[in-house]
Amino acid sequence: MTCQASSPALPLAGKKGLIIGVANDKSIAYAVAQAIVALGGEVAITYQNDKTARYTQPLADALGAKLFLKLDVAEPGSLENVVAECGKAFGQIDFAIHSMAFCNADDLHGRVIDATEQGFDSAMNISCHSFLRMAKALEPLMTNGGALITMSYLGAERVVRNYGVMGIIKAALESAVRYMAHDLGPKGIRVFAVSPGPIMTRAASGIANFNNLLEADAQKAPLGRTVTIEEVGALTAFLCSPGSSGMTGQTIYVDAGAHIVA
Ligand code: NAD
Repeated sequence: MTCQASSPALPLAGKKGLIIGVANDKSIAYAVAQAIVALGGEVAITYQNDKTARYTQPLADALGAKLFLKLDVAEPGSLENVVAECGKAFGQIDFAIHSMAFCNADDLHGRVIDATEQGFDSAMNISCHSFLRMAKALEPLMTNGGALITMSYLGAERVVRNYGVMGIIKAALESAVRYMAHDLGPKGIRVFAVSPGPIMTRAASGIANFNNLLEADAQKAPLGRTVTIEEVGALTAFLCSPGSSGMTGQTIYVDAGAHIVA
């Protein structure tokens, strides 16, 4: 009897999805895209404006992205257009990554009670409600179920100095994940928030004293260090894969264990 060795199919072979939030090669979304492509997935990548396209186009090329589309979630119809383009190119969608946040510096810094109504609304719309809208637009394309994943932070659950209004917004985002998981579960659509520890990225550089936060987290974490975007990417790709098929609705930490320590 002969025994033929066959290489197992990659877990995301044939799976297609949308990834929002690649600004440069330090972006969490870029490492997520790399991990998904390494597992056999096919991706559409977005860029926020023509200025960022210069940096993101070579990254989209390196990923072999099927689509490279402009997306500013604050512009009416922009998100829905991107999803429609994905529908035309891919037919069915299996996963989507929402790795983006924004808050005006004036509303982010200082006390939460001093944030302006307009600044709060805009941060909530861009950083939280866009995830709900993304799910709504994608639902008809996710005919075979799939995974929707957003990025949160510990500031959702506890007061993290200098995280201000974003903490309130991430709390809403984590709650949205639970309600979305409940609503979309019957369709086999699983929803997650991934909560990384602090990592120096462009968005993070807007948070005051971020270097102190990095240092304090590394000291506190059981693993004695902070995490990399590659570690966030690997976890997120796993959540898109069949290995996580029994999970939904959770906020999952990837922070070298820092959140368990008081
Ligand atoms: P980043 O600056 O690389 O990514 C932020 C992305 O948000 C950019 O690609 C930007 O274009 C996009 N964005 C902002 N406003 C947008 C809009 N109106 N329309 C479309 N896109 C828009 O920084 P990052 O750290 O990779 O951030 C990704 C996510 O990870 C964010 O949700 C952030 O809150 C979260 N996160 C970051 C850290 C960290 O320490 N870096 C920790 C926990 C969670």
